[in-house]
Amino acid sequence: MIEVKDLTKRYGATTAVKDLTFTVRPGSVTGFLGPNGAGKSTTLRMILGLNEPTAGSVTVGGRSFRDRPRGLRHVGALLNAGDVHGGRSAATHLAVLARSNRIPRRRVDEVLAEVGLAGAAGRRRIGGFSLGMRQRLGIAAALLGDPPVLLFDEPLNGLDPEGVLWVRGLFRRLAAEGRTVFVSSHLMSEMENTADELIVIGRGELIAAESLTRFAARG
Ligand code: ADP
Ligand code: ADP
Repeated sequence: MIEVKDLTKRYGATTAVKDLTFTVRPGSVTGFLGPNGAGKSTTLRMILGLNEPTAGSVTVGGRSFRDRPRGLRHVGALLNAGDVHGGRSAATHLAVLARSNRIPRRRVDEVLAEVGLAGAAGRRRIGGFSLGMRQRLGIAAALLGDPPVLLFDEPLNGLDPEGVLWVRGLFRRLAAEGRTVFVSSHLMSEMENTADELIVIGRGELIAAESLTRFAARG
């Protein structure tokens, strides 16, 4: 469970997130919808503990920003597909993450298989990966520590239609396992068939927090 309360983040004169309050519950897929620049990534980074809030609080599993354990075994995240060392193979990238997070090495092959990068694909340089393959690798990294809470920032970007179906199935399964799954997008069309619950923001502020069907019925 993720609890965001009166959360504000300012960068100088820019208020990226303003008085945001919402809850993301385990067992369902929660979408995080808003146009580009709405504050989604900033919020996800604060949930992950990478950015400190200017005001307000974020708790994950009841633990606040300051006293929360960090790392891939607690919260897994796909933040942005560009954020990897291009000279390494996918398998090496994941092995480095596994070692620094004290995750068993065998998980590397498990998650590579899970995201469709088993075999030769996993041994190729990441620098030569398509955006879709980078997304799959980022998703593999998020799954590596088998965490109870998973954040995905624009995960459908760059995936082909088959990849989109696959990732939706993956989110469903993670939620059915009782995990907290929080998925951002700037497109309502991507949220349909993906999310059960929806948090909608604009200009850093909350617009709606309700089931997707209720939000869609508003027109
Ligand atoms: P989204 O993910 O919804 O596209 P962001 O969280 O990336 O939105 O950005 C929200 C706002 O905060 C934007 O106006 C953006 O320019 C600003 N912003 C984000 N990160 C920084 C930063 N590190 N420094 C200054 N402004 C930032
Ligand atoms: P540190 O050892 O300084 O805490 P990390 O090893 O946690 O740094 O982070 C290294 C990289 O992994 C950073 O680019 C960060 O954005 C990313 N990262 C950190 N935590 C997570 C996470 N839970 N899920 C996915 N990526 C993460």
